[in-house]
Amino acid sequence: MIPREVVEEIVYRADIVDTIGSYVTLKRAGSNYGGLCPFHSEKTPSFTVFPATRSFYCFGCGAGGDVITFIKRVENLDYPSALEFLAERVGITIPQDRANERGELLNRKRIYEMNLEAAKFFRNCLFDPKLGQEGMQYLKSRQLSGATIKRFGLGVAPNSFGMLTDYMHSKGYSDEELIKGFLCGKSQKTGKSYDYFRGRVIFPIIDVSGNIIAFGGRVLDDTKPKYLNSSDTPGFKKSRNLFALNYAKDACSESLILCEGYMDVIALHAAGFSNAVATLGTAITSEQARIMAKYTKKVIISYDSDEAGQRAANRAMKLLEEVGLEVRVLKMNGAKDPDEYIKKFGSERFRQLLGQSKTGFEYKLENVLAKHDISIPQEKIKASEQLCDIIAGVTSSVEREVYIARVAESLSLTAEVIKNDVERRRSKEIRAQRRKESRDAMNSAKNYGDRINLDSAKNVAAASAEEAILGLLLIYEEHRTAVEKGKVDVCADDFFTAFGRRVFEEIMALQSTEKGFDFSLLDEKFNSDEIGRITRYKIGRHELRENGIDVLTSSVETLKKEKQRMSEKSGDDPFATIKRRQQNAADRKNKK
Ligand SMILES: [Zn+2]
Repeated sequence: MIPREVVEEIVYRADIVDTIGSYVTLKRAGSNYGGLCPFHSEKTPSFTVFPATRSFYCFGCGAGGDVITFIKRVENLDYPSALEFLAERVGITIPQDRANERGELLNRKRIYEMNLEAAKFFRNCLFDPKLGQEGMQYLKSRQLSGATIKRFGLGVAPNSFGMLTDYMHSKGYSDEELIKGFLCGKSQKTGKSYDYFRGRVIFPIIDVSGNIIAFGGRVLDDTKPKYLNSSDTPGFKKSRNLFALNYAKDACSESLILCEGYMDVIALHAAGFSNAVATLGTAITSEQARIMAKYTKKVIISYDSDEAGQRAANRAMKLLEEVGLEVRVLKMNGAKDPDEYIKKFGSERFRQLLGQSKTGFEYKLENVLAKHDISIPQEKIKASEQLCDIIAGVTSSVEREVYIARVAESLSLTAEVIKNDVERRRSKEIRAQRRKESRDAMNSAKNYGDRINLDSAKNVAAASAEEAILGLLLIYEEHRTAVEKGKVDVCADDFFTAFGRRVFEEIMALQSTEKGFDFSLLDEKFNSDEIGRITRYKIGRHELRENGIDVLTSSVETLKKEKQRMSEKSGDDPFATIKRRQQNAADRKNKK
């Protein structure tokens, strides 16, 4: 346990606006700050930071909490690691008598040190004449120079089940740590650990601060899978990192080149294009798009020229455009990927190719035209429909105008015809969206599909009374004291949803400790989604003007009445609740 004074000090010093502001561009809106949510993809800001209550909440996806919850979510850390992360940021030392000794946790600093040690092992294996022979042969066959191999810290994992494990043991790392860091797997049969990467060329994945956060491994033969990547660990989330961004970040003020594979990136860097990056063995995510937008204005997608690569490019285009990036797509003829292209035609030709890269729209236009023979009327209609659909999705009216003219020209139709079709599609789209929004609003009013508070749909009146009570207790010390002293008669059994009951119990348990309640202590008791919900109770309440004790009392009355009504309806014994409540009141008196 981290002492609570330390937790409070960290939360106090890690100013929520500053901390979140280093991840999200925040704009002042009255006494709060708004920005684009880092936890879901959106075009208009619904993410809000409330300095007064030291909390954040996203009205789009329901993410919310305090500065600890934010770091937990954005950095993919557990509660103690999030505190450590923040402590380091604000210059507080957490007393170290916990965690590591018990082997329960693996903080990210330890993971980075462990990964660095493993990277050294892989590199030494590569340069070992016997162990590294095959790996070195492969890298040379891909025409990588010694300097490039060193720059990217490449290595090789020998074809052995225990060499890395033994080496890491000798450096003081336990099996548990190695398994948590995805350097080892654990045998289901024997329970023993074994090397995770075997017989592979190793690509260390380095974050922008220079830490080795994970590894990617490529086979040397035809074994499947061709690429193996570390799974997400504390401090490493695939969806939030990009290969080689540590180098590209210093060379990308104009543009980033987005590739599919590690080898493409390395070939491009070696050829002088040090603004190339790649995703980590997965399709691009909106988080990665946002990260790129932090470093550059323009992204040139340089995916494989096959069908799959082009499909992936389409998806990437959409995500990148959503975060406001200017997108270009590279069309390579005569080579399957950038690596092959440069080898065949040289880096100068590739540089020219970059200059000729197509805008997202041109690229789509060409694709549609290539698929349809527009001299055939039926085909021309199909092409026109697809293109109008694409234009209808463009937000800027100026851009739409330009594209309409372009399509009209390519299809030899009048701009007016195309424009009418586009507008028809847009209004249809807008109507559908409105319908969806009102449906969503209705559903959330009825609490259908609520995964966090499952019972709330059964009685909306009772559930909203619960929310009012919890909101008041979360904010006001005087209300918590009133409940504690029995001035307001409410107990855990009065709550009708299991979630509401749990929140109430945790608040009151903290309240009864010597130092009383503090919101940041809830981060340890609830997961991030739950904290988001609890924050909504708090924010919702804070915005209202009437928050006095009479609101609390009347909400309690409503809750009790509704609960009574429900149990009568279902034929439960109403006296059981009353008896239970009397018992609780007696318990409370005895405690004092
Ligand atoms: Zn959100």
